[in-house]
Amino acid sequence: MSCDFKALATPGVQGLHPYLPGKPVEELERELGISDIVKLASNENPLGPGQQVLSAIEQASKELTRYPDSNGFELKQALCERFALSADQLTLGNGSNDVLDLVGRVFVQSGDEVIYSEYGFLVYALVAQSMGAKAVVTPARDWGHDLEAMAAAVTEKTRVIFIANPNNPTGTWVTESQLRNFMAQVPEHVIVVLDEAYTEYVGHVDFPDGLRLLNEYQNLIVTRTFSKAYGLAALRIGFAAANASITDLMNRVRQPFNGNALALAAATAALSDEDYLARSVALNNEGMAQLESGLEALGLSWIPSVGNFITVDMKTDAMPIYQALLHEGVIVRPVANYGMPQHLRISIGLPEENQRCLDALNKVLSI
Ligand SMILES: *Cc1c(COP(=O)(O)O)cnc(C)c1O
Repeated sequence: MSCDFKALATPGVQGLHPYLPGKPVEELERELGISDIVKLASNENPLGPGQQVLSAIEQASKELTRYPDSNGFELKQALCERFALSADQLTLGNGSNDVLDLVGRVFVQSGDEVIYSEYGFLVYALVAQSMGAKAVVTPARDWGHDLEAMAAAVTEKTRVIFIANPNNPTGTWVTESQLRNFMAQVPEHVIVVLDEAYTEYVGHVDFPDGLRLLNEYQNLIVTRTFSKAYGLAALRIGFAAANASITDLMNRVRQPFNGNALALAAATAALSDEDYLARSVALNNEGMAQLESGLEALGLSWIPSVGNFITVDMKTDAMPIYQALLHEGVIVRPVANYGMPQHLRISIGLPEENQRCLDALNKVLSI
């Protein structure tokens, strides 16, 4: 190869590390020749798709030769009804990662500063770096976001601040009063992105609902996804809600058909299936309790989590434990790339999957 293509890439992209997804079941099957694998590595919904979603997909599949509705009219209508928003506040995305990326493309250029927290969701680092921005990473407090430190880190170069509530991979969260205090300190020309990918799972009374705060804070962008509690990770659909002028900008850079027809139809159906959502949340609460008591019995400690996952302190290099669990047919998630080499993140699964994981941990740790 005569041309050094890497040298042609923008400096931000040259320094990028690809996002490391959870190991797919099929890959482990191929590698180890084992079956009956339990994957608790990507915070997916263990319930499987609901019947209303499957019917909507079947119906929509009859129109596969047509481009999807670029404006996602029906899904936006359903979102507006459900969350008391107007359509000009909504940007649909190919998963919420897509809308996080759009925020970067609209507001961030080389030399700007982007603030996020230590142990914050890795996509924020990807967005900042791919735009050539300087990442300002504030130290975590008790594994979670230190909003005081984040507000104090704002300079005249700050364009965007990313907050995951709750955060992945730590499961930590900020209260409504903490968030309001923070917003009061952030100048209006700094965009605050509140990533609420797991919000449906959280039942605490002082947990903020970002969508209800949009009228008060013009610089707030709230992102949500259908990948977690709504169970549609494979289809890639999420959205951002913000004031109309931010939304207009995000929709200018959006790929016109970034929401595919099956995803649009499925998400619309999923929104109206309240029973599925309730079952997802109930299953998660039970699974969390099951994993917590099992981990306690194993003498392990963890970061208290309000998400659909729990991040466990192995008190030693977690990589060999992760590998040993793979040989037991259990896929969890190492988080060394988050700067947490002694932790493993376990997604909440079905009761029998959680038990398989606890049994495997027990076996692996007693060797
Ligand atoms: C899973 C997750 C998302 C959602 O990703 P999608 O692209 O919508 O599948 C966003 N933010 C955080 C913090 C997540 O963990």
